[in-house]
Amino acid sequence: MATKADFYDVLGIGKSASQDEIRRAYRKLARQFHPDLNKAADAEDRFKAVQEAYDVLKDEKKRAMYDRFGHAGLQSGFNPAGGGIDFGDMGDIFESFFGTATRRDTHGPRAGRDLQTALSLEFMEAVNGVAKEIDIDRLEICDECSGSGQGLQSEVATCSVCNGAGQVRRVQSSIFGQFVNVATCENCGGAGRVVLNPCSSCGGEGRARRRRKNSIDIPAGVDDGNNLRIPGGGDAGYRGGPPGDLFVRISVAEHDTFRREGLDVFSKLKINVADAVLGEEFQVETVVGEERVNIRPGTQSGSMMRLRGKGVPRLGRSGRGDHYVRVDVEVPSRLTKRERQLYDELKSL
Ligand SMILES: [Zn+2]
Ligand SMILES: [Zn+2]
Repeated sequence: MATKADFYDVLGIGKSASQDEIRRAYRKLARQFHPDLNKAADAEDRFKAVQEAYDVLKDEKKRAMYDRFGHAGLQSGFNPAGGGIDFGDMGDIFESFFGTATRRDTHGPRAGRDLQTALSLEFMEAVNGVAKEIDIDRLEICDECSGSGQGLQSEVATCSVCNGAGQVRRVQSSIFGQFVNVATCENCGGAGRVVLNPCSSCGGEGRARRRRKNSIDIPAGVDDGNNLRIPGGGDAGYRGGPPGDLFVRISVAEHDTFRREGLDVFSKLKINVADAVLGEEFQVETVVGEERVNIRPGTQSGSMMRLRGKGVPRLGRSGRGDHYVRVDVEVPSRLTKRERQLYDELKSL
């Protein structure tokens, strides 16, 4: 067995550290070694070690056991023979030593895993919402056995290794006293029972991996980078446990004429000098259709016109953002003869 690092060393604190100091050291190191942020090869191991040390030291009862007996004091079934420890405070250890604790059935129900997938949308699909078919690869309840793991020929028998207890006990002596090592039975995975001739479709797991198309309703107003949560869309639960969730990471394509910022949409309107000087009405495209824009006489290039409530709908709520039209006055670079005459006339006024 590899020697484990001292929990105080792992967190880089002294034996007399307060709970506040423990928490601060943990937060700092957890951030430093979090596998999502730290790509070093040993980051995950360091992260787990930090987590484990914190789990013990933040709990005054476990910390007291650890301070007194070291890592051995944390093993389930540890009996600090005559150590003067108050047994009343250690109900679970006390009970598992004497075998009265309820066995944790590792074959009992377990929630399914959450899954993550990605989906690309066109600009207008994100604005208006859309139903999409996406391929999802996940564990689903086995059709053959409806999740029980048992086939027609199945028989449930008591595990011959642990005689149904689900656990294997071994008594060991050490200088600290007597240990009872309680380990989950490997033959039955802790269930105490084994299924003979399990369901042939799923091998007794009760779930099977399937890849199939699922229809997903994308609500109106989603934006690039949103992570939609679809409750129950993840892996099926194990032995009747609840299913996990599906998270859909949305990316949205750019549009030829619209640009989006949150709920607001921006577009450009090119007008000529005469329209800017004298004023004119225009039809402009918005995400809700064509809208009339009134260019007042004397409008400057770069002016913004706001069309209230013509932007993107608010996700899951009522109301919409606005549409902004930026006016660009185009100065002609090529003139007809007639235009040239008129500009000359204007110039000499
Ligand atoms: Zn067993
Ligand atoms: Zn099955």
